[in-house]
This record gives sequence, structure tokens and C-alpha cells, in this order.
Amino acid sequence: MRKTILKITIVLLVIIILPIGFFLVNELSKLSQDEQMVERVFNKQLESILYSVNQYSENVISYWASNLDLPIDCNGQAMDGIANNILANNPSILQIGFIQINSNKPLAIYNKHAEILNNYIGPKGIEVNRLIEFIKNGYQKIENLSIDDTTVLYFVMKNQPENVLCYITLDPERFIQQSLGPEIQQVSQELFYISVSDSLGGNVIYATEGNISDSLDVQQTALWYFPQYTMGIRLLSQTLDELVSERGQKSRNLLWGIVFIVFIGAIFVIRNIRKEFHLAELKSDFVANVSHEIRTPLALITMYAETLKLKRIKNEEKQDKYLSTIYSESLKLANIVNRILNFSKIEKKKTIFNFEPLPVNELINEIFDSYKAHFETNNVSVEYSPLKTDVYINGDSGGITEALINLFDNAVKYGKASNKKVTLRSKIQKKSVIIEVEDNGIGISSKDRNLIFEKFFRVSKGDLANNIQGSGLGLNIVKQIMKSHNGSVSVKSKPGEGSCFCLKFPIIKNNNHG
Ligand code: ADP
Repeated sequence: MRKTILKITIVLLVIIILPIGFFLVNELSKLSQDEQMVERVFNKQLESILYSVNQYSENVISYWASNLDLPIDCNGQAMDGIANNILANNPSILQIGFIQINSNKPLAIYNKHAEILNNYIGPKGIEVNRLIEFIKNGYQKIENLSIDDTTVLYFVMKNQPENVLCYITLDPERFIQQSLGPEIQQVSQELFYISVSDSLGGNVIYATEGNISDSLDVQQTALWYFPQYTMGIRLLSQTLDELVSERGQKSRNLLWGIVFIVFIGAIFVIRNIRKEFHLAELKSDFVANVSHEIRTPLALITMYAETLKLKRIKNEEKQDKYLSTIYSESLKLANIVNRILNFSKIEKKKTIFNFEPLPVNELINEIFDSYKAHFETNNVSVEYSPLKTDVYINGDSGGITEALINLFDNAVKYGKASNKKVTLRSKIQKKSVIIEVEDNGIGISSKDRNLIFEKFFRVSKGDLANNIQGSGLGLNIVKQIMKSHNGSVSVKSKPGEGSCFCLKFPIIKNNNHG
């Protein structure tokens, strides 16, 4: 049996556990790669959020440029309307101007507050040849220049007959707060903290809502058109490392959970297989035992019946002896067959018990009386102490008789070779009545004590199995009968000193109430 279990375990290992094991080890090792990947992807995402803010600022500035770069007179009425409209709608713009590049002469200057801002605050001393080259190639580039607290955005116009430079001077902090602010707030999605600070001093000039700690990771980039300002982004509540390792931990826990379940499952399967094999082994022992038990009485019956039939025995006394042997051996046979049938019925839950209130003393007396002769034939001295006051239990008299007779049979079978003694005792313990059958026989080892109530189990040590016939069903039948009676069976025993089997039934009423 061991070999077969070993084989099944190995097969199980090879076809289920090993592949799952490899898979899990592989997954666990891939986890750290995944973590790095998540980190990379996440960083890219942060980058792209910052990129989108820069892109937005480019869109706004390009929109202004396309509105100003029209084939109209820079100093005319139409341009006046357009420039003043842009100035009015964008509080951050301080001045818009047009300069003729060749003569370096201002063509027109539009101020926000003419009364305060009369001065020219456009680009000075800049190199525009590159921009002219770009225009020739069909590409308009907008450059930026930081002058004091202002930023000047300038580009060469496409639609003028001569080379004209258009510039927009603005207050960068105001632009960031008023024009980029709403966009930054929107892209932060309340998940990120985005701030814009002055690159030199580090003063934050705009930030989204939320309290953050300085220890949180920051991803930074300069604003395209305002490189003197840096935009930073970070997660609101956790560092990226914390976020990634939290995810990793969750996946690891899940994988270990699977390992644990697979492990428990394998143990469960192997244990069940072992149990089934053990049962199969017990069953085959049972068949051998029962065949042996049946063969002996059958051989005796056949032999004596044949002798009688041939009328070889003339002596009447001897004939009587033969007949009574045939009778007692047939009873033995009937007993074995009945036990097997009863067991199979109880196993399949087909036994119908007729429960009724039964007075304990009366019932035990009856069973004891019917068995007394058997004790005497086997030279067993018996002591019986009934209850002082009788009580009732709810039971099936046939079932209880069978259980007790099984215990009596065992007490006789496994009793001492000489001076066999059996004590039958009933007593009350709290709300139960206890019926004890004690013998002074061979006893049961502590290891076997847990197994004797299993079906087909017989103690097979020494020559007990060979010497004493049995099927290994008796105590299992007792256990099942007791279970149907909401009771229990237990045993106290020491090898060589005897055993005491104890049946416990719930009391339903005392005699004086009944
Ligand atoms: P069987 O007696 O047919 O073998 P049982 O189910 O009645 O089957 O008993 C199972 C085993 O328990 C027996 O084989 C025997 O080893 C042990 N056993 C039962 N009763 C006693 C007893 N009174 N004393 C010692 N051993 C016992």
C-alpha cells in the first residue's frame, strides 16, 4: 500500500504541484520586474501630465500669435481692435508690439494701461535671423526672453510685406496663475499635487490644493515658454515607491495565498487517498476473516449432517450431541450473516429504529437474562448492579439489545483465559444514564483504542487476529446505534488489565414522573 501511495504522491507532485510551483516561483520573480515596469509607466504618466500643461500653454500662445499674424496694417484700426481685445481678455499681457526688423523701428505698440505703461518693454538686442530663416522654410517659431520680471514672447510675422517682428510682453506669474492655473487644477484630478515655482528662489507661485509632505517624490520639468519657472508633480498621499510596493505586496500575498491553498489541497488529497487505501486493506482483511468464520461452522454442519444422514451413529446420545452441534453452529452462522446484514443496513441508513420511552432497568434486566446462559457456558462470573431508581430513555429496544450483546460478546471473546469476570453496571451522571460493561481481559493499547470503532478494524498484533474470530464490525455497529440514539460509546482500557465500554444515553424522564 505504501508503494502505491508513494506513486500517487509522486504523480500528484509531477502533474499538479510541480507545474503550479514553477508557475508561482516564476510569477514571484516577475513581480519585481513588474514593479519596475509600473514605476516606469507611472513616471511616464507623470511626465505626460506635465507635458500636457506645457502643451496647453503653447496652444494659448499660438492662438494669440495666429490672431495677431494677419495680412493687415500693424498700425491700422483692425489691428488696434484685435490687439486691444487680446489685452482686455488676458490680464497677464502687458504690451503687444510690432517692430520693423530691417530698420529696428517700432510700427505699433499696444499697452494695457497706457497711462502707467508708456515705456517700451519689448525685446532688445535679439538675434532674429534664425527666425527669418525658419519663416522662409514655412515654420513660425515663437521665442521667449526674460527681462526683469517680465517675459517677452516674439516671432517673425508671416503675412507682412516686410520682415516684421511681433512681440507679446507679459507678467509670467500672472499668466501661470490665471491662464495655466485652471488647466493645472483640472489635470491634477485631485490625485496629484502640482506646483510651479521660481527656479532660482524656489518660491511656489502656484499650487493645486492638498497638504503634502516634502518627503514625497517629485517629478519636475521647466515650463517651455517660461524656463525660469519649474513645474513639479507628486502623488497626494503616498510616494511612488510606497504605491508600487503596496501593489507588489498585494500580489505577493495573493500568490502566497495560492501556494498555501495548493499545499493544503495536496495534503488533503494525499490523506484521503491514504484513508481509502487503508479502508480497502481493512475490507480485504474483513473478507478473509468472515470467510474463515463461515467456513468452520459450515464444515462442522456438513460433516455432522452427513454422518447422521448415513445413519452411521447408532448411539442416541451421540446423535443428540451431533444435532446440538449442528444447531449451535447454524446459530453462529446466522449470527454472522445477521451482523453483516445489520451493518450494511445501518451503513446505508436503511435501519428503521422504533423509538419509544424505555425504562432502563427493565430493558437491561431482560437483555442480561437472555445472555446469562451464554456467560455461564463460557465460565464467566458476572456481576450486575442496576439503577437504584429506574429512569426512561428514548430508544429502540432491538438496537440497544444489539449494542449491548456486541459488548457482551467482546467481553467474553477478549476476556482472560481463566477467571473471566464481567461487570455490568448502570448509573446516572447528570442528565444521562451510563451503562458500563467491564471485563478483566486482554485490554486494548492506547493506539488501538482510537481505531476500534472504525468499520472493519481489528487489532492485528500478536496472534489475536488468528486466535479470536471476528469481523471488525461489532463496535462500529455499536457506535452507529448510539449515534442514532443521540448518545455515545467510549472505552477505558489498559493492556493486560481489562476494558470498560461505556454507553451513554440522554434521560428523558424519571420513573416517578412517568
Ligand atoms: P470483532 O470483535 O469482530 O473483531 P469489533 O468491532 O467488535 O470486531 O471489535 C474490534 C476490535 O476491538 C477487536 O478486534 C478487538 O481487537 C478489540 N476489542 C473489542 N472489544 C474488546 C474487549 N472487550 N477487550 C479487548 N479488545 C477488544
